[in-house]
Amino acid sequence: MVVVMEPGATGAHVDAVVERVRSAGGEAFVSRGVSRTIIGLVGDNVDEFRALNLRSMAGVADVIRVSSPLKLVSLDNHPGRSTVVVGGSDRGVPIGPGTFTLIAGPCAVESAQQTFQAAEMAQAAGATLLRGGAFKPRTSPYDFQGLGEQGLRILAEVRESTGLPIVTEVLDAHDVPRVAQYADMLQVGTRNMHNYALLQAVGRAHLPVLLKRGMQATVEEWLTAAEYVAQRGNLDIVLCERGIRTFETSTRNTLDISAVPVVQQLSHLPVMVDPSHSGGRRDLVLPLARAAIAVGADGIMVDVHPAPEEALVDGAQALVGADLRELASAVRRLPPLVGRRPAERLASAGAS
Ligand code: PEP
Ligand code: MN
Repeated sequence: MVVVMEPGATGAHVDAVVERVRSAGGEAFVSRGVSRTIIGLVGDNVDEFRALNLRSMAGVADVIRVSSPLKLVSLDNHPGRSTVVVGGSDRGVPIGPGTFTLIAGPCAVESAQQTFQAAEMAQAAGATLLRGGAFKPRTSPYDFQGLGEQGLRILAEVRESTGLPIVTEVLDAHDVPRVAQYADMLQVGTRNMHNYALLQAVGRAHLPVLLKRGMQATVEEWLTAAEYVAQRGNLDIVLCERGIRTFETSTRNTLDISAVPVVQQLSHLPVMVDPSHSGGRRDLVLPLARAAIAVGADGIMVDVHPAPEEALVDGAQALVGADLRELASAVRRLPPLVGRRPAERLASAGAS
């Protein structure tokens, strides 16, 4: 069962519901969204919850019985689509309906200079969030694994000078507090989508989460992974389709573009597309980015690099020069055709 609180419900209203559920032997998981709080109830006996008469309590808008595996992330239990704000709730960058958000940056943080240059390229292309991996999940243990905490410090310096909030991957549940000290958004990568300890750890963090789809995961498994994050109290989750494994070998992964509207039918969470890691090829980034805009995604995440031929990771898919200028033009011109404006920091939205 899910208790949906009124938009104006207070902390005391929420506490009273939680207390009543716990005193009846159930568990209650509170998730605070931008406009509403919802409470997921877990217990054996639904009838017992019914007898608690939660609907009559102050601040409660609705109590919904749920039989699907999705509770907190389900569209059925949520009034409308969610917007997740990255970089501070009053002055951050929105990801959600009505806007189109470009996240760009290097696949991996390699040096301060490379990251500064990539951030300038990203910003010039219209990106309002900077991506960059300090901890890299590499298929081979002999490949560059990222700069670790030094990489996080570089990202923080670049944020200081560019003003771009940072999206960076966390690989291990134990690293969440350390990465959260520097990051504005915690990325869970495709290889970790089934890492339930990590999902719970980012669920306890007070930062938005970018949850990439497992390369072998169904949409339902992906949304259930998001449910793990939400169940620990964090409803600021953005999903990211990044391609799945198929028999096709001409691309690194097959971008499952239909996952975007499928997710939007099932969940209120924003959904983005990563056209870089899906195709794995520079020449496909722009066409796939256009497809993402057309299909109704809330944004894209793109790799850029000042010298792709020297990149330590994923140089073949990084944009530079004319390709990046073309992408910049597409993300400026195309979203308005589908009823979205390029996402800006909230404080600057509406400024002349
Ligand atoms: C990344 O975005 O840096 C990354 C490793 O992506 P994925 O987890 O989708 O492979
Ligand atoms: Mn990469």
